[in-house]
Amino acid sequence: KTPLYAVYGASGCGRGIMPLAKAQLHEQGIAAERLVFIDDNPAADLINGHRVLTYGEFLECEASIHYAILAIANGNVRETLARRCAADEVHPWSVRAANVITMDDVTVGEGAALSPFVTLTSNIRIGKHFHANLYSYVEHDCIIGDFVTFAPGVKCNGNIHIHDHAYIGADAVIKQGKPDQPLVIGRGAIVGMGAVVTRSVPPGTTVVGNPATPLVRK
Ligand code: UDP
Repeated sequence: KTPLYAVYGASGCGRGIMPLAKAQLHEQGIAAERLVFIDDNPAADLINGHRVLTYGEFLECEASIHYAILAIANGNVRETLARRCAADEVHPWSVRAANVITMDDVTVGEGAALSPFVTLTSNIRIGKHFHANLYSYVEHDCIIGDFVTFAPGVKCNGNIHIHDHAYIGADAVIKQGKPDQPLVIGRGAIVGMGAVVTRSVPPGTTVVGNPATPLVRK
């Protein structure tokens, strides 16, 4: 028996991560047929040449160990699926593009998805099931929680703390904090695309614009 690997989620996010997963396994000499999609609502049996299994079918597959990367942008869904996988001994799997750059003293928790052209500089702590999409970066001395999601092109500058389940939209820029006074993005906050974040964002708040301010729903 050999390991079986899965990209959980066969929609936009999953189809972007699958080629990275395939390349990573190829580097390790693992055959592509040991890599599948899992989707609970599959659109097709085969997507971009990969089998699509339901979660139940995946569990029934013969394997020495089951691995899955949660490839769904919604961090709450990732948390639910992480619990489900843990209960069934499906192990978290991290996938990163070959050209990701990580500098000194960077720790990234289990289940991370790091897309092409992501850079993580030095002295950074990142929690579980982090997604950093294309061209995002994390600068020095940042602390990032669990189930945090970066859309493409996020510029997360130095001394920023991002709490669990925050979602940072495409091309958002977050101003650097100070060593004794980090800029904090609160738990579950949403930063709109293109926002220029110059001050801390309270938990659960959505901010948009330049400078970013709370979104007032009419
Ligand atoms: N999905 C799933 N199990 C869940 C929730 C979602 O298999 O509990 C699948 C869903 O069927 C869909 C994908 O995950 O194919 C999520 O796709 P969506 O386009 O909503 O998100 P994205 O790929 O952009 O993160």
